[in-house]
Formats: sequence, C-alpha cells, structure tokens
Amino acid sequence: MDELSVVLNNSNVNQHECVSVKSGDWVIFSCPQCPGYERRINMRTQEMQLHDPTSGKYTHVGRYSPLIMHSIN
Ligand SMILES: [Zn+2]
Repeated sequence: MDELSVVLNNSNVNQHECVSVKSGDWVIFSCPQCPGYERRINMRTQEMQLHDPTSGKYTHVGRYSPLIMHSIN
C-alpha cells in the first residue's frame, strides 16, 4: 500500500483536473491550466477527439457523471 500511495502522489504533481461541459452528444473537457486543451468524448458513439497543446505532458482527469476521463491518449 505504501508503494501505491507514493505512485499516486507522484502522478498527482502533473495531474490536472479538467472542467466538463455537455454539448449535445458530446462532453467537452477543458483544462483551466492549459489554454487550448480540449478533449471531446461522444457519449453515444464513444468517439473521442483530442486537442492537446502540451502533447501529453500532463495527465488530465475529469468526470462528467457517469463518464470518467483519465488521459487516454
Ligand atoms: Zn492541463
């Protein structure tokens, strides 16, 4: 358990919490700390679109119940 909590703490350093907005079938996650970052997930078709100006430098997490997003590049 100690090892697991260390890993989690380390990953939290580069982890950004995104805000989510629903638009039609799409849920749009954007990051307050990364201007231009946007991940869209279509709730109906599971299609995903990503625009990440940081090229995956940070782990982005966000949730829009019941959807949970965790940087799946
Ligand atoms: Zn970010």
